[in-house]
Amino acid sequence: MLRVDQVSHTFRSPQGVVPVLDGINMTVDKGEMVALLGSSGSGKSTLLNLMAGLMKPDQGSIWIAGTDIVRLGENKLAEFRRQHIGFIFQAYELMSNLTVRENVELPLVFMGMRPALRRKKAEALLEQVGLAGKAGLFPSQLSGGQQQRVSIARSLVTEPSVIFADEPTGNLDTETEEEILAIIQRLNQQMQTTFIIVTHEAEVADQMQKVITLKNGRLIRETTNEPLNELEMEKGEAL
Ligand code: ATP
Ligand code: MG
Repeated sequence: MLRVDQVSHTFRSPQGVVPVLDGINMTVDKGEMVALLGSSGSGKSTLLNLMAGLMKPDQGSIWIAGTDIVRLGENKLAEFRRQHIGFIFQAYELMSNLTVRENVELPLVFMGMRPALRRKKAEALLEQVGLAGKAGLFPSQLSGGQQQRVSIARSLVTEPSVIFADEPTGNLDTETEEEILAIIQRLNQQMQTTFIIVTHEAEVADQMQKVITLKNGRLIRETTNEPLNELEMEKGEAL
């Protein structure tokens, strides 16, 4: 469902030229959970932003659901992103002047959906992330983990084919991180949404199906993890 083909990118500024990505190739299947792992400065966020259509690479193609998004013009790209792509930020990026429910509804407002339907969809997703009772509050009245759950609900409300997340648990304690990852995993299974998650923590990467490791802008390793859930189920049955 996603294919990155010979993508290279260099940042140019008056301060100099910084080559950041060099000949990246990768493919991701529908419904897959993928971790992008690598040390600070290895190019993870840049690759994620390119795949999400937030910026364009110097070279290469990025195919999502049959379209090379690098070749789309501004308007077509904006429309494609609204239909196919969700994004979860490390710092949540919620609108502070909107309630929790209004934040989740916002992408549907841009799609022109009528109010009764978008309210229903937002409430269903808030229920899914365990925040049904918080719909009328403002983001500042929530904990960090709760705010990230709102942001997850917002990213899923348009039923995108793929969700990109840049260190979604980077600001959270370990226990909250586990809760958030469990929610993402459950939604991935229920909705068959593809998730590509940037992390620099091996423990987070271990919970994904595929781990792609970057070093100095190159893809140096791609590994597939054993399906943890099935192993755990077998253990459970044996007890
Ligand atoms: P971290 O784990 O610290 O978030 P990262 O793997 O996400 O790191 P990137 O943010 O992709 O790394 O940055 C990769 C390299 O590109 C770094 O050397 C960074 O300084 C450089 N870089 C990123 N954005 C820009 C920019 N807008 N202009 C110039 N250089 C940039
Ligand atoms: Mg980063």
